[in-house]
Amino acid sequence: MLVSPLIDAGIAGVFGLAIGSFLNVVIYRLPQILERQWAAECAEMAGKPADDSPELTLARPRSRCRQCGHLIRWYENVPVLSYLMLRGKCSACSTPIGLRYPLVELATGALFFFSVYHWGATPAGAAWCGFSAAIVALALIDWDTTLLPDDITLPLVWAGLIVAALRWNAGVSLTQALWGAVAGYMSLWLVYKAFKLLTGKEGMGYGDFKLFAALGAWFGWQALVPIILMASIIGAVVGIAMKFSSGLREGGYVPFGPFLAGAGLTAMIFGPASILSAIGL
Ligand SMILES: [Zn+2]
Repeated sequence: MLVSPLIDAGIAGVFGLAIGSFLNVVIYRLPQILERQWAAECAEMAGKPADDSPELTLARPRSRCRQCGHLIRWYENVPVLSYLMLRGKCSACSTPIGLRYPLVELATGALFFFSVYHWGATPAGAAWCGFSAAIVALALIDWDTTLLPDDITLPLVWAGLIVAALRWNAGVSLTQALWGAVAGYMSLWLVYKAFKLLTGKEGMGYGDFKLFAALGAWFGWQALVPIILMASIIGAVVGIAMKFSSGLREGGYVPFGPFLAGAGLTAMIFGPASILSAIGL
């Protein structure tokens, strides 16, 4: 009886592994592509010649070993399997390949499996696959670069509103999604302004407001308080742990986006209300 949903979810999971492999490219290259765009725009405004370094897109050039430049062949690029076959090393120079690559693939595969198992092979299932992929990319880009690119956060806001308008999102009406996006953005913006007024420091970035607005659009305004509570508690615990460990970052700055993203995935899997009960409220 339950075989068919499992097959659908299994197919989605395999597809998710491949999407996870693509997300690894997005996480690594998108910040570089954006930085080049900004540099080119600045150069243009200053009337300086644009730099003529070779084109970089998500598709080009093909991936190479960062250590020796070995061109990664298709059979060395199969999600998870290639990592295991290569035993986590470049086939040319034996430099270790980060464990994060297969983990991102596995996580994306698992999230796709869950989405289609839970919502079925339906538009809703596909929508939540898209949500998970965007959240995984945002969490890791923010962790690496403290940036949450508009190219991902803004479409995620729109997608949440559209999914609610199409009634693909059970339990979240368009009205709830709309006010979720507005309240998500405004609440963190107000916190940011107040914090800046009191301390003269910037505790968050505009990307955090947009990501929180997206979570509001996907889960409705009622979910904002549970999500921000969870993100803040985990963020504080990790931040303190990092301060006391050797993991202290430059300037001691821990980005908030990964914790918002983690709370968003928790809300997706267990429901926003479960976050409140998990922290004893
Ligand atoms: Zn190599």
